[in-house]
Amino acid sequence: MRLHIILLILCSLLLVSNASNAVTMSSFSSMPVNDSATKLTLYLPQEANKGLSIKQVKNLAPDQWQKVSSQDIAINAGNNWLKVELYNALDQTVDNHLVIDGRQFLYQHIIYQDEESQQLTDKNRLISSTKQINNVVTSQITLSANETVTLLVKLSSHANRVVQIRTLNQYRFTHYIGQDSFISGLAIGGLIAMVFILLFIFLSTINYAILLLASYLAALTGSLAAMYGVNFSILLPQYTSIHGQEFPLFTALSAILILWFCSELFKLADNRRYLYWAYHLIGWSLLVFIGVSFFLSFNDNILISNVIKIVSTLFLAALALHLAQRKHQLAALFSAFVIVQGFIVFTNVGLYDWYHLNTELYTVGYWITGLLIVFILGRQSHHEKYEKYAARQQALASAVESKKAQEELLVLQNENQEQLELAVQERTLELNIALQELEDANRELEQKNTQDELTGLFNRRHYDQKLLAEFRRSRRNLTPLSLVVIDIDHFKAINDKYGHTAGDVCLVTLAQLMKNILRRSSDLGFRYGGEEFCLILPETDSDGAIALAEALRSKVLETAFSIESEQLSLTISCGVATYQQQADVTPVEIFNIADQALYLAKTQGRNRVIAKTIESDTNNT
Ligand code: GH3
Ligand code: MG
Ligand code: MG
Repeated sequence: MRLHIILLILCSLLLVSNASNAVTMSSFSSMPVNDSATKLTLYLPQEANKGLSIKQVKNLAPDQWQKVSSQDIAINAGNNWLKVELYNALDQTVDNHLVIDGRQFLYQHIIYQDEESQQLTDKNRLISSTKQINNVVTSQITLSANETVTLLVKLSSHANRVVQIRTLNQYRFTHYIGQDSFISGLAIGGLIAMVFILLFIFLSTINYAILLLASYLAALTGSLAAMYGVNFSILLPQYTSIHGQEFPLFTALSAILILWFCSELFKLADNRRYLYWAYHLIGWSLLVFIGVSFFLSFNDNILISNVIKIVSTLFLAALALHLAQRKHQLAALFSAFVIVQGFIVFTNVGLYDWYHLNTELYTVGYWITGLLIVFILGRQSHHEKYEKYAARQQALASAVESKKAQEELLVLQNENQEQLELAVQERTLELNIALQELEDANRELEQKNTQDELTGLFNRRHYDQKLLAEFRRSRRNLTPLSLVVIDIDHFKAINDKYGHTAGDVCLVTLAQLMKNILRRSSDLGFRYGGEEFCLILPETDSDGAIALAEALRSKVLETAFSIESEQLSLTISCGVATYQQQADVTPVEIFNIADQALYLAKTQGRNRVIAKTIESDTNNT
């Protein structure tokens, strides 16, 4: 935004200062102009005159000259001779200016005074006041009253064209030159200023599009300067080989530069590769053409220059079309640029011809296109800045959005975490309950494993484990361990008489009696198998064990076992063995001793308690 406004302001300031300068310069030319009283008559040789020397021209007979009615004379490429007759009809001396406007095409002129008395050679230039202002030949000639002066003029031109020949008095001459300086100064100086401004902007921004644009405008300036007659034959008169090369050189350069500039400005390398390649191919071909142009005739070069203008305009039109298709913001502006350029080129070719370049037309065209393209550059850099800004805004917005999304995600994660933790807690609770249940079940199972189902006493398996454990403890603690083996007397008879179920009831009753009699928590009762029971009595000596067995025996004897409304009485026999750390004794041997004691009780009449001592060598007493 800022760049193109600065550019426009600078360009406008420059134009204003330029214009005011030019107006000051030419202010006196706006004075009333008197018609020249001098009569101008022009003659051309009847036949081809190219190779004629001044002597031969001088010797041409009057009838070999043809009078020309117009003051606009068609000349050919190469040397052209013409005869100019000036007649002062006034009775006073007048200062006259002969003006030959050949502009860009003239590269040499010689004016001779046709006087008999003069020694005429090619080197003998008689009109010393001849000047060349921007390639317009002017010669001041003073005519006495009613005097006629005949001049022979040799014009060397690069191309066929029309040359304007006028005779102007002092006022009109000043006006003419002033106007000419005004227009050329405005046109060329303005463009040069624009070039410098752009160069400074380039130096501060290092934007290569700007450098290309500055170079393009410089090429336009060169082209325009050549049209105004400021060409190589004036600037570099000694380098004759480059005279007349301005048009192919500057036309080709400006075409190359505008194509490359557009390619850079609209980023064709990224957006439209085929246009990018076309532009660069044309650019390089034109560079080759610049070299080739030195070997071509001036006329051919002018023709080719016009073709280059048309071709490059067509390729710019392709870009304008592409921009319009893509709805580029600058499509309309760029199209306007192409249309103006196209209009100028086609108008020039249409109105004049392929071999001519109309200076005024091109001045207007170059200025409009130059300003338009600078404006386009400004707009484009403004759009780019805006796009960058918009992209930054968008990035910022999406950053905010993403932060918000992250926060939401965090909240969601926290919620989920809480839910998860809750779920885990619930699950853990359930698991703990399940574990508890499992533990209970295990305990139950263990209990079932150690318990006898019928009597509720510990079973045989538990008896084995318990006896081993208590045996070890007894040995370690040096405490006595007693074992009582109990067997119901004549139990087979009861089973036989009352049946097994009744026998079982008796077994349950006996078990209950055993439980009741065991007071110490360490004393344990077992169903050893069938109707045989055991008591493991840790820290109990033989007497204690006998006493306990005796107590049980008496209790059983006293107890009435009720079966099928009958009252039975049962007796038991008990065998007691007590371990008191005798050497080489095993739990099995302890049982065997107790069993032997039981056997003794049975054999001695049953319903009694017999204790048997354990010997070290396991011998019975
Ligand atoms: P004694 O001991 O006095 O020499 O004679 P007894 O008849 O009791 O003989 P023994 O000790 O050999 O007893 C074995 C009988 O015990 C066989 C069976 O009828 C009975 N018995 C063994 N186990 C059970 C049981 O689980 N339930 C029932 N009801 N009877 C059983
Ligand atoms: Mg038995
Ligand atoms: Mg028995």
